[in-house]
Amino acid sequence: MVFELTDMSLVQSEAIVGGNVCESVTGCRVDVIDPATSEIIGSVPAMNGEDAQKAIAAAEAALIPWRAKTASARSERLRTWHKHVLEAKEDLAKLITAECGKPIGESRGEVAYAASFLEWYAEEAKRAYGDVIPPHQEDKRLLVMRQPIGVAAAITPWNFPAAMILRKVAAALAAGCTMVVKPAPQTPLTALALHVLADRSGLPPGVLNTITGSIESSLQIGSAICASPTVRALSFTGSTPAGVSLAQQAATTVKKVSLELGGNASFIVFDDADIENAVQGALAAKFRNSGQTCVCANRFFVQSGVHDAFVEAFAAAVAQLRVGPGSEPDVSVGPLIDDRAHEKVKALVADAVACGANVAVGESSNSTNGRFYPPTVLTSATPEMRLAKEEIFGPVAPIFRFESEEEVLKLANRTEFGLASYFYSQDINRCFRVAEAIECGMVGINTGMLSTVVAPFGGVKSSGIGREGGRYGLDEYQELKYICLGGVR
Ligand code: NAP
Repeated sequence: MVFELTDMSLVQSEAIVGGNVCESVTGCRVDVIDPATSEIIGSVPAMNGEDAQKAIAAAEAALIPWRAKTASARSERLRTWHKHVLEAKEDLAKLITAECGKPIGESRGEVAYAASFLEWYAEEAKRAYGDVIPPHQEDKRLLVMRQPIGVAAAITPWNFPAAMILRKVAAALAAGCTMVVKPAPQTPLTALALHVLADRSGLPPGVLNTITGSIESSLQIGSAICASPTVRALSFTGSTPAGVSLAQQAATTVKKVSLELGGNASFIVFDDADIENAVQGALAAKFRNSGQTCVCANRFFVQSGVHDAFVEAFAAAVAQLRVGPGSEPDVSVGPLIDDRAHEKVKALVADAVACGANVAVGESSNSTNGRFYPPTVLTSATPEMRLAKEEIFGPVAPIFRFESEEEVLKLANRTEFGLASYFYSQDINRCFRVAEAIECGMVGINTGMLSTVVAPFGGVKSSGIGREGGRYGLDEYQELKYICLGGVR
């Protein structure tokens, strides 16, 4: 164990099903690695489909009493959990940095963001209103009520080990569902610590069940969840190919599926932008979590009139970013999650350089510094390069020069993805024009940070289906029931 927490009982190395800690049926385990040092920092059960079925059964057993509770009673549990998460903020942040690698300041921010979903849905639980519809016949009365969909499942990625879980679990539990959660194999410790805090908050056994898998056994867990008729909703955050595979499997049991998938965000700087603000926004939109977020800017389009000024200021700011282990103070760019991620970023940069990109700051391709990749700015990028089409998921910012608004809209929309987009302009007409024309689920205008609990998060095209957060997030875990009362005099 290479980290010290104030409360070491948060470090849980078994899964939690039906209120009990448990091993996998096979007894197999999977190591958890610190990406900054490659050291083993823990291990958890490598569970399989049979383990998933047990967790689904536990969630089913807990469903009827949980959904029968008043919204206020469910709200109370979420509110207490919120308090426990905030009290454990520093320990949770250390866990996130240890297994995911992000700088400790970002990890603290993630805990606060993650906790905000517990508070928000503790409130929304009480506002799951239905409707009374003016009837079509005099003796009828028509009502629509919202009911919990039933047992739900969540499969989450490693890049936000706490937030991607609580964004789903808080909404599901508020709606009256029970849940099976499978965190990413790289980051199970944060998920299990959150579960320990949920138990301390008085959440009844089986309402939340956290199972862990290895990269190999995860597929079996996914298949078992998809094949189960008991699971009525599946919420997945991760890559588009994995989302497509899960959606295909879930179709066999006609589940409600929410998919938060990959992105290829454009970041557009128009001639009329405030360049200083645009540079600050670009740093925030690109380098958070070493460029490993789904809403990270992937393609920077800069109009000719401000191109050189933007590149100069941006490259100078990027050169100041300090790279190192996330646990060290003042580090703003940590390691990439694993060797495969590092290889991919290297390959994308090598391809771009071979196709004519210039390195304004950073690394051309041959970094050998473990999993750390230096923040890099490339100029003269073109749409034919791989990094224009693929998620970079690393601290690399390719800059494309453009001439007109019409041209950049075509370029920005030339992608199968549609999660987030950003642009900088001080022309209010252009702000509306471009925001409406960009094909994506979320637009940041004159800001590089748009995620918040109060707004709907999600994408269009191959970036997903459904929304999380805001008042819309409950919808994913509810069914509408229409009631027609006849013979009323
Ligand atoms: P990933 O490879 O798709 O995996 C995500 C999670 O799903 C992991 O826990 C993975 O476990 C699991 N998984 C994948 N296929 C599965 C299956 N058939 N059955 C069961 N579990 C399965 O994605 P990642 O590399 O971890 O995360 C990065 C991706 O997530 C990026 O594309 C990013 O854009 C996207 N993302 C999207 C959002 C959003 O809100 N739109 C937020 C964050 C990240 P294994 O590793 O064991 O396969």
